Amino acid sequence: MVIVMSPGSTAENLDKVQEKIEQAGLVCHLSKGEERTIVGVIGDKSKIANLEMNMMDGVEKTLRITEKYKLVSRDFQPSDTVIDVGGVKIGAGHLTVMAGPCAVESLEQLREAAREVKKGGAHFLRGGAFKPRTSPYDFQGLAVEGLKMMRQAADEVGLKVITEILDREDMDIIGRYTDVFQVGARNMQNFQLLKALGRAEKPVLLKRGLAATIREWLNAAEYILSGGNQNVILCERGIRTYETFTRNTLDLSAVAAVKELSHLPIIVDPSHGTGRWQMVRPMARAAVAAGADGLIIEVHPHPEQALSDGDQSLTPKNFFAVMDDLREMAKLMGREL
Ligand code: PEP
Ligand code: MN
Repeated sequence: MVIVMSPGSTAENLDKVQEKIEQAGLVCHLSKGEERTIVGVIGDKSKIANLEMNMMDGVEKTLRITEKYKLVSRDFQPSDTVIDVGGVKIGAGHLTVMAGPCAVESLEQLREAAREVKKGGAHFLRGGAFKPRTSPYDFQGLAVEGLKMMRQAADEVGLKVITEILDREDMDIIGRYTDVFQVGARNMQNFQLLKALGRAEKPVLLKRGLAATIREWLNAAEYILSGGNQNVILCERGIRTYETFTRNTLDLSAVAAVKELSHLPIIVDPSHGTGRWQMVRPMARAAVAAGADGLIIEVHPHPEQALSDGDQSLTPKNFFAVMDDLREMAKLMGREL
Protein backbone atom coordinates (compact mmCIF):
# COMPACT_ATOMS: atom_id res chain seq x y z
CA MET A 1 0.00 0.00 0.00
CA VAL A 2 1.08 3.56 -0.70
CA ILE A 3 -0.17 6.44 1.43
CA VAL A 4 -0.07 9.88 -0.13
CA MET A 5 0.14 12.64 2.48
CA SER A 6 -1.59 15.92 1.59
CA PRO A 7 0.66 18.94 0.83
CA GLY A 8 -0.47 20.69 4.04
CA SER A 9 0.10 17.71 6.36
CA THR A 10 2.27 18.21 9.44
CA ALA A 11 5.21 16.29 10.87
CA GLU A 12 2.90 15.18 13.66
CA ASN A 13 0.41 13.73 11.13
CA LEU A 14 3.24 11.77 9.56
CA ASP A 15 4.44 10.49 12.94
CA LYS A 16 0.96 9.18 13.72
CA VAL A 17 0.72 7.46 10.35
CA GLN A 18 4.09 5.79 10.86
CA GLU A 19 3.17 4.77 14.38
CA LYS A 20 -0.01 3.07 13.22
CA ILE A 21 1.81 1.17 10.49
CA GLU A 22 4.53 -0.01 12.84
CA GLN A 23 2.02 -1.03 15.50
CA ALA A 24 0.39 -3.24 12.88
CA GLY A 25 3.73 -5.03 12.49
CA LEU A 26 4.44 -3.50 9.08
CA VAL A 27 7.38 -1.54 7.70
CA CYS A 28 7.27 2.03 6.27
CA HIS A 29 9.45 3.55 3.60
CA LEU A 30 9.28 7.32 3.20
CA SER A 31 9.72 9.19 -0.04
CA LYS A 32 9.83 12.95 0.54
CA GLY A 33 9.08 14.89 -2.64
CA GLU A 34 9.05 18.68 -3.02
CA GLU A 35 5.29 18.86 -2.51
CA ARG A 36 4.27 15.61 -0.96
CA THR A 37 5.47 12.86 1.27
CA ILE A 38 4.59 9.34 0.22
CA VAL A 39 4.64 6.44 2.64
CA GLY A 40 5.16 2.94 1.29
CA VAL A 41 3.84 0.13 3.48
CA ILE A 42 5.35 -3.30 3.09
CA GLY A 43 4.93 -6.58 4.90
CA ASP A 44 2.33 -9.27 5.42
CA LYS A 45 -0.49 -8.93 2.84
CA SER A 46 -3.31 -9.79 5.23
CA LYS A 47 -2.11 -7.19 7.72
CA ILE A 48 -1.99 -4.56 4.95
CA ALA A 49 -5.53 -5.53 3.87
CA ASN A 50 -6.78 -4.72 7.39
CA LEU A 51 -4.98 -1.40 7.62
CA GLU A 52 -7.41 1.54 7.49
CA MET A 53 -5.52 4.77 6.85
CA ASN A 54 -7.89 6.94 4.76
CA MET A 55 -9.49 8.69 7.73
CA MET A 56 -6.27 9.76 9.39
CA ASP A 57 -5.35 13.46 9.56
CA GLY A 58 -3.00 14.55 6.81
CA VAL A 59 -3.71 11.57 4.55
CA GLU A 60 -4.83 12.59 1.07
CA LYS A 61 -5.40 9.11 -0.34
CA THR A 62 -4.21 5.55 -0.21
CA LEU A 63 -3.36 3.36 -3.19
CA ARG A 64 -3.29 -0.40 -3.23
CA ILE A 65 -0.38 -1.38 -5.44
CA THR A 66 -1.28 -4.59 -7.14
CA GLU A 67 2.23 -5.26 -8.46
CA LYS A 68 4.55 -7.23 -6.20
CA TYR A 69 7.26 -4.60 -6.49
CA LYS A 70 6.37 -1.44 -4.60
CA LEU A 71 9.37 0.69 -3.70
CA VAL A 72 10.62 0.72 -7.29
CA SER A 73 7.21 1.69 -8.69
CA ARG A 74 6.17 5.10 -9.96
CA ASP A 75 3.06 4.90 -7.79
CA PHE A 76 5.30 4.99 -4.75
CA GLN A 77 7.57 7.73 -6.09
CA PRO A 78 6.21 9.75 -9.01
CA SER A 79 9.39 11.80 -9.55
CA ASP A 80 12.51 10.35 -11.21
CA THR A 81 15.29 9.16 -8.92
CA VAL A 82 18.59 10.94 -9.49
CA ILE A 83 21.68 9.14 -8.22
CA ASP A 84 24.70 11.26 -7.36
CA VAL A 85 28.02 9.45 -7.57
CA GLY A 86 30.50 11.97 -6.20
CA GLY A 87 29.10 14.76 -8.38
CA VAL A 88 28.28 12.61 -11.44
CA LYS A 89 24.50 12.40 -11.75
CA ILE A 90 22.48 9.55 -13.18
CA GLY A 91 18.79 10.03 -14.03
CA ALA A 92 16.31 12.83 -14.81
CA GLY A 93 17.80 14.82 -17.66
CA HIS A 94 21.39 13.67 -17.30
CA LEU A 95 23.02 11.50 -19.93
CA THR A 96 25.69 9.41 -18.24
CA VAL A 97 28.27 7.41 -20.17
CA MET A 98 30.23 4.46 -18.80
CA ALA A 99 32.94 3.10 -21.09
CA GLY A 100 35.94 0.83 -21.05
CA PRO A 101 37.03 -2.71 -21.80
CA CYS A 102 35.01 -5.83 -21.07
CA ALA A 103 37.79 -7.14 -18.82
CA VAL A 104 40.71 -5.61 -17.00
CA GLU A 105 43.73 -7.18 -18.72
CA SER A 106 46.70 -5.08 -17.59
CA LEU A 107 47.46 -1.69 -16.10
CA GLU A 108 48.80 -0.51 -19.44
CA GLN A 109 45.61 -1.53 -21.30
CA LEU A 110 43.43 0.12 -18.69
CA ARG A 111 45.36 3.37 -18.57
CA GLU A 112 45.14 3.70 -22.31
CA ALA A 113 41.42 2.91 -22.24
CA ALA A 114 40.82 5.39 -19.40
CA ARG A 115 42.68 8.20 -21.20
CA GLU A 116 40.72 7.63 -24.39
CA VAL A 117 37.25 7.31 -22.90
CA LYS A 118 37.89 10.38 -20.76
CA LYS A 119 38.96 12.26 -23.88
CA GLY A 120 35.69 11.21 -25.53
CA GLY A 121 33.68 12.57 -22.60
CA ALA A 122 32.75 9.44 -20.60
CA HIS A 123 31.98 9.80 -16.89
CA PHE A 124 32.80 6.26 -15.73
CA LEU A 125 35.48 3.70 -16.50
CA ARG A 126 33.94 0.23 -16.84
CA GLY A 127 35.88 -3.04 -16.69
CA GLY A 128 35.48 -6.45 -15.11
CA ALA A 129 38.03 -7.79 -12.64
CA PHE A 130 35.81 -10.78 -11.75
CA LYS A 131 34.45 -12.11 -15.04
CA PRO A 132 31.37 -14.36 -15.43
CA ARG A 133 32.57 -16.36 -18.46
CA THR A 134 30.45 -18.96 -20.23
CA SER A 135 33.40 -21.38 -20.35
CA PRO A 136 35.61 -22.14 -17.34
CA TYR A 137 38.59 -22.21 -19.72
CA ASP A 138 38.13 -18.57 -20.75
CA PHE A 139 39.96 -15.70 -19.04
CA GLN A 140 38.37 -15.27 -15.60
CA GLY A 141 39.73 -11.82 -14.73
CA LEU A 142 42.53 -10.41 -12.59
CA ALA A 143 40.43 -10.26 -9.39
CA VAL A 144 41.78 -7.92 -6.67
CA GLU A 145 44.81 -6.89 -8.75
CA GLY A 146 42.35 -5.85 -11.46
CA LEU A 147 40.33 -3.76 -8.98
CA LYS A 148 43.46 -1.84 -7.98
CA MET A 149 44.26 -1.17 -11.62
CA MET A 150 40.72 0.10 -12.22
CA ARG A 151 40.94 2.55 -9.36
CA GLN A 152 44.38 3.79 -10.34
CA ALA A 153 43.61 4.22 -14.05
CA ALA A 154 40.29 5.97 -13.31
CA ASP A 155 41.77 8.28 -10.68
CA GLU A 156 44.62 9.32 -12.94
CA VAL A 157 42.19 10.87 -15.43
CA GLY A 158 39.25 11.73 -13.12
CA LEU A 159 36.70 9.01 -13.92
CA LYS A 160 34.37 7.09 -11.64
CA VAL A 161 34.62 3.28 -11.50
CA ILE A 162 31.98 0.64 -12.19
CA THR A 163 32.86 -3.05 -11.92
CA GLU A 164 31.02 -6.33 -11.57
CA ILE A 165 30.41 -8.27 -8.37
CA LEU A 166 29.80 -12.01 -8.77
CA ASP A 167 29.78 -13.12 -5.16
CA ARG A 168 28.41 -11.44 -2.04
CA GLU A 169 31.57 -12.44 -0.17
CA ASP A 170 33.49 -9.94 -2.34
CA MET A 171 31.32 -6.95 -1.38
CA ASP A 172 33.81 -5.40 1.04
CA ILE A 173 36.87 -5.78 -1.13
CA ILE A 174 35.13 -4.57 -4.31
CA GLY A 175 33.51 -1.74 -2.35
CA ARG A 176 36.97 -0.47 -1.45
CA TYR A 177 37.80 0.20 -5.10
CA THR A 178 34.55 0.83 -6.97
CA ASP A 179 32.02 3.66 -7.02
CA VAL A 180 29.16 1.54 -8.37
CA PHE A 181 28.59 -2.23 -8.11
CA GLN A 182 27.55 -3.92 -11.35
CA VAL A 183 25.29 -6.97 -11.10
CA GLY A 184 25.58 -8.89 -14.34
CA ALA A 185 22.79 -10.47 -16.34
CA ARG A 186 23.67 -13.94 -15.04
CA ASN A 187 23.20 -12.81 -11.45
CA MET A 188 20.01 -10.78 -11.79
CA GLN A 189 18.16 -13.31 -9.67
CA ASN A 190 20.98 -14.18 -7.29
CA PHE A 191 18.80 -13.19 -4.36
CA GLN A 192 21.51 -13.58 -1.72
CA LEU A 193 23.70 -11.17 -3.67
CA LEU A 194 20.80 -8.74 -4.11
CA LYS A 195 20.02 -8.85 -0.38
CA ALA A 196 23.67 -8.17 0.46
CA LEU A 197 23.70 -5.21 -1.93
CA GLY A 198 20.58 -3.90 -0.21
CA ARG A 199 22.89 -3.22 2.72
CA ALA A 200 25.67 -1.68 0.62
CA GLU A 201 26.43 2.00 0.82
CA LYS A 202 27.19 2.34 -2.87
CA PRO A 203 24.84 2.40 -5.87
CA VAL A 204 24.09 -0.76 -7.83
CA LEU A 205 23.70 -1.14 -11.58
CA LEU A 206 21.35 -4.08 -12.11
CA LYS A 207 21.53 -5.65 -15.54
CA ARG A 208 18.48 -7.39 -16.97
CA GLY A 209 18.76 -11.18 -16.93
CA LEU A 210 19.29 -13.02 -20.21
CA ALA A 211 15.72 -14.29 -20.22
CA ALA A 212 14.07 -12.08 -17.61
CA THR A 213 10.77 -10.31 -18.07
CA ILE A 214 10.56 -6.64 -17.14
CA ARG A 215 8.51 -7.53 -14.04
CA GLU A 216 11.07 -10.09 -12.87
CA TRP A 217 13.76 -7.46 -13.31
CA LEU A 218 11.83 -4.86 -11.29
CA ASN A 219 11.24 -7.44 -8.56
CA ALA A 220 14.99 -8.08 -8.48
CA ALA A 221 15.53 -4.32 -8.01
CA GLU A 222 12.91 -4.40 -5.22
CA TYR A 223 15.17 -6.80 -3.29
CA ILE A 224 17.88 -4.14 -3.20
CA LEU A 225 15.57 -1.24 -2.34
CA SER A 226 13.72 -3.17 0.34
CA GLY A 227 17.07 -3.93 1.94
CA GLY A 228 17.65 -0.19 2.38
CA ASN A 229 19.71 0.77 -0.67
CA GLN A 230 17.65 3.17 -2.77
CA ASN A 231 20.35 3.80 -5.37
CA VAL A 232 19.66 1.33 -8.15
CA ILE A 233 20.26 1.91 -11.85
CA LEU A 234 18.64 -0.53 -14.27
CA CYS A 235 20.49 -1.63 -17.39
CA GLU A 236 18.93 -3.15 -20.50
CA ARG A 237 21.55 -5.38 -22.15
CA GLY A 238 19.57 -7.48 -24.56
CA ILE A 239 17.61 -10.70 -24.09
CA ARG A 240 17.64 -14.15 -25.67
CA THR A 241 15.36 -14.58 -28.66
CA TYR A 242 15.37 -16.87 -31.71
CA GLU A 243 17.61 -14.36 -33.55
CA THR A 244 21.20 -15.52 -34.01
CA PHE A 245 22.72 -12.76 -36.16
CA THR A 246 23.05 -10.61 -33.04
CA ARG A 247 24.37 -11.94 -29.72
CA ASN A 248 21.17 -10.81 -27.97
CA THR A 249 18.10 -8.84 -28.98
CA LEU A 250 18.35 -5.34 -27.55
CA ASP A 251 14.89 -4.60 -26.16
CA LEU A 252 14.61 -0.84 -26.37
CA SER A 253 10.91 -1.02 -25.57
CA ALA A 254 12.09 -1.89 -22.04
CA VAL A 255 13.31 1.70 -21.70
CA ALA A 256 9.83 3.09 -22.28
CA ALA A 257 8.27 0.36 -20.12
CA VAL A 258 10.61 1.05 -17.19
CA LYS A 259 9.98 4.80 -17.47
CA GLU A 260 6.26 4.09 -17.15
CA LEU A 261 6.52 1.58 -14.31
CA SER A 262 9.42 2.88 -12.23
CA HIS A 263 11.20 6.01 -11.03
CA LEU A 264 14.63 4.37 -11.28
CA PRO A 265 17.11 5.48 -13.94
CA ILE A 266 17.70 3.11 -16.84
CA ILE A 267 20.76 2.91 -19.05
CA VAL A 268 21.40 0.76 -22.12
CA ASP A 269 24.30 -1.53 -23.07
CA PRO A 270 24.40 -1.66 -26.88
CA SER A 271 27.62 -3.73 -26.77
CA HIS A 272 26.21 -6.86 -25.10
CA GLY A 273 22.82 -6.01 -26.59
CA THR A 274 24.09 -6.66 -30.12
CA GLY A 275 27.49 -8.36 -29.81
CA ARG A 276 28.67 -6.48 -32.92
CA TRP A 277 30.71 -3.28 -32.76
CA GLN A 278 29.19 -2.11 -36.06
CA MET A 279 25.77 -1.91 -34.41
CA VAL A 280 26.82 -0.09 -31.25
CA ARG A 281 26.65 3.43 -32.69
CA PRO A 282 23.15 3.22 -34.20
CA MET A 283 21.79 1.40 -31.13
CA ALA A 284 23.37 3.98 -28.81
CA ARG A 285 21.51 6.70 -30.70
CA ALA A 286 18.27 4.71 -30.60
CA ALA A 287 18.61 4.12 -26.85
CA VAL A 288 18.97 7.82 -26.13
CA ALA A 289 16.09 8.65 -28.47
CA ALA A 290 13.95 6.14 -26.53
CA GLY A 291 14.67 8.01 -23.30
CA ALA A 292 17.58 6.11 -21.73
CA ASP A 293 19.46 7.93 -18.98
CA GLY A 294 22.83 6.81 -20.28
CA LEU A 295 24.90 4.11 -21.90
CA ILE A 296 27.47 1.53 -20.93
CA ILE A 297 29.77 0.78 -23.86
CA GLU A 298 32.73 -1.55 -24.33
CA VAL A 299 35.79 0.29 -25.62
CA HIS A 300 39.19 -1.37 -26.03
CA PRO A 301 42.38 0.37 -27.21
CA HIS A 302 43.04 -2.69 -29.44
CA PRO A 303 39.83 -4.74 -29.83
CA GLU A 304 41.58 -7.38 -31.97
CA GLN A 305 43.76 -8.26 -28.95
CA ALA A 306 40.95 -8.25 -26.36
CA LEU A 307 40.78 -11.24 -24.00
CA SER A 308 37.00 -10.97 -23.98
CA ASP A 309 34.29 -9.43 -26.16
CA GLY A 310 36.63 -7.97 -28.81
CA ASP A 311 33.93 -8.34 -31.49
CA GLN A 312 31.64 -5.90 -29.73
CA SER A 313 34.28 -3.45 -28.48
CA LEU A 314 34.71 -0.06 -30.08
CA THR A 315 38.08 1.43 -30.91
CA PRO A 316 38.63 4.83 -29.27
CA LYS A 317 38.02 6.48 -32.65
CA ASN A 318 34.64 4.78 -33.04
CA PHE A 319 33.78 5.70 -29.46
CA PHE A 320 34.50 9.37 -30.22
CA ALA A 321 32.01 9.16 -33.10
CA VAL A 322 29.33 7.83 -30.70
CA MET A 323 30.05 10.66 -28.28
CA ASP A 324 29.79 13.25 -31.08
CA ASP A 325 26.34 11.86 -31.89
CA LEU A 326 25.32 11.97 -28.25
CA ARG A 327 26.38 15.59 -27.86
CA GLU A 328 24.20 16.54 -30.85
CA MET A 329 21.29 14.56 -29.43
CA ALA A 330 21.72 16.00 -25.96
CA LYS A 331 21.47 19.51 -27.39
CA LEU A 332 18.28 18.63 -29.28
CA MET A 333 16.71 16.86 -26.33
CA GLY A 334 17.76 19.33 -23.63
CA ARG A 335 19.83 16.69 -21.82
CA GLU A 336 23.00 17.25 -19.86
CA LEU A 337 25.96 15.20 -21.08
C1 PEP B 1 29.82 -7.14 -18.89
O1 PEP B 1 29.32 -6.03 -18.72
O2 PEP B 1 31.02 -7.30 -19.23
C2 PEP B 1 28.97 -8.33 -18.78
C3 PEP B 1 29.47 -9.53 -18.46
O3 PEP B 1 27.69 -8.08 -19.08
P1 PEP B 1 26.35 -8.97 -18.95
O4 PEP B 1 26.21 -9.30 -17.52
O5 PEP B 1 25.31 -8.03 -19.47
O6 PEP B 1 26.52 -10.16 -19.85
MN1 MN C 1 31.66 -7.96 -21.95
